[in-house]
Amino acid sequence: MRIIPIPIEKAASSKTIFLPSFQNESLLREEIFSHLAPSAQNLTAAFVENEFKGEAEEVKSLWLNDRPVKKIILFGLGERAKWNERKFPLLSRQLIQRAKEEKISEFTTILPETTGFASKIFATNAVMANFEFNAYKTIPKDGWPEVKTVYLAVEESAISEIKKGIREGIIMGEETNNCRNLANIPGGDMTPQRLAEAARLAGKRIGLRVKILKETEIKRLGMGGILGVSRGSDEKPKFIIMEYRRGPAKQKPLVLVGKGVTFDTGGLNLKEDEHIYEMHMDMSGGAAVIHGMTAIARLKLPITTIGLIPAVENMPSGSSYHPGDLLKTMSGKTIEVLNTDAEGRIILADALYYGAVKYKPGLMVDFATLTGAAQTALGRFMSPLFTNKQKLTDNLVEIGDRSGDYVWPMPFWDEYLDNIKGTFGDWANIGKRGAGGGAISGAKFLEQFINGCQWAHIDIAPRMTALESEYLAKGAAGAGVRYIVELAKEYPNLEIQM
Ligand SMILES: [Zn+2]
Repeated sequence: MRIIPIPIEKAASSKTIFLPSFQNESLLREEIFSHLAPSAQNLTAAFVENEFKGEAEEVKSLWLNDRPVKKIILFGLGERAKWNERKFPLLSRQLIQRAKEEKISEFTTILPETTGFASKIFATNAVMANFEFNAYKTIPKDGWPEVKTVYLAVEESAISEIKKGIREGIIMGEETNNCRNLANIPGGDMTPQRLAEAARLAGKRIGLRVKILKETEIKRLGMGGILGVSRGSDEKPKFIIMEYRRGPAKQKPLVLVGKGVTFDTGGLNLKEDEHIYEMHMDMSGGAAVIHGMTAIARLKLPITTIGLIPAVENMPSGSSYHPGDLLKTMSGKTIEVLNTDAEGRIILADALYYGAVKYKPGLMVDFATLTGAAQTALGRFMSPLFTNKQKLTDNLVEIGDRSGDYVWPMPFWDEYLDNIKGTFGDWANIGKRGAGGGAISGAKFLEQFINGCQWAHIDIAPRMTALESEYLAKGAAGAGVRYIVELAKEYPNLEIQM
């Protein structure tokens, strides 16, 4: 998709204009109208007065028998006093969805916010809204509807700043879509091998170093957690390592870890039908790290970042790990498997420990579709955030706000450790029955394997798939990619505070 800023007076020569507007505010004050032909001005004025209130979600179309403007579509934004920063990304997507519905491949719009930052948000979200997972469908005769060009009508003086924002936003949107694409690939096709291949290809495209550890190397490293979970599958585990080094020589790396369970049946604790559906997306954290890394590289951010993805398939079979098994992790600590469906934290135990001792990170952050309890606690609009560095909490929340991958801080008290103390091993992989707070138990479990480094855990399970109200295609939401980019940009500032 191309997004091109143009001066406002030129907007009036577009064929189709998309015009968002607040309630009770005269649209006709918009500069765009003074550039319309007089007949079009009159017609528009009458239409707006009689037909358009500007209420939230109101959309009205107006045909003009005029040249060059043929059609104006008005989008109500509701009251200005109720507008907030979360509504702007949604508006950006709404415009694209509407264009696709009407098979409009090119339009001009004038947005309620026109800073460089706002144009970045617009570009990111417009690109995200343009995406659909059609790889497995027959292509229709006229192709899939998509928006090819959007012209943003802006003040001429702001154009260069806006161009910069757009460029960054398009990269963030494209890499988020690449992540969604990976996560949407069905489990029959998405294996640890395929995920590793995807990381390798993405790395090649951008010029990132990618190394894939095979089962023998995973064994040699003593990653008994990863080996244990993958045992039931015919697919061998992979450990994906991506490296990007552009930070100052002294900078400690930002280590990103993503859960890569390419299909989660639950193992011998087999999931029931309603919970097993969509479990091919249990590698969403891994996909987010892969494409967060490629986005960082495309933006050439001055930072050193490492991406680590343990990739396994969790299957029930004669060779599966059992409830009650005691797995020895790379850290030397043992995990008492009380439920084979809490496999994400087991593979992450090895990946986090590897990241901590091998790279000595300034900060390590993991992204994982870890617990259903995360959604029970917070609903589906944000991901719970846990960190052992409380001082960073506000910054980490703000990164979420800015990126659109919203996170919310959760309690992280040591009291919760009681829930996961093992009977025959060091740590149990699920909390005691009836204890509640499952997302917190999960996070406390992970904390046992970070070797004391500064760390945050983002449980993206609630954000795995897009909601109806988000103006995105059904399927993977691509959570984490935008967060990773904003985190990488902020990292030098965070380092100072740590
Ligand atoms: Zn599971």
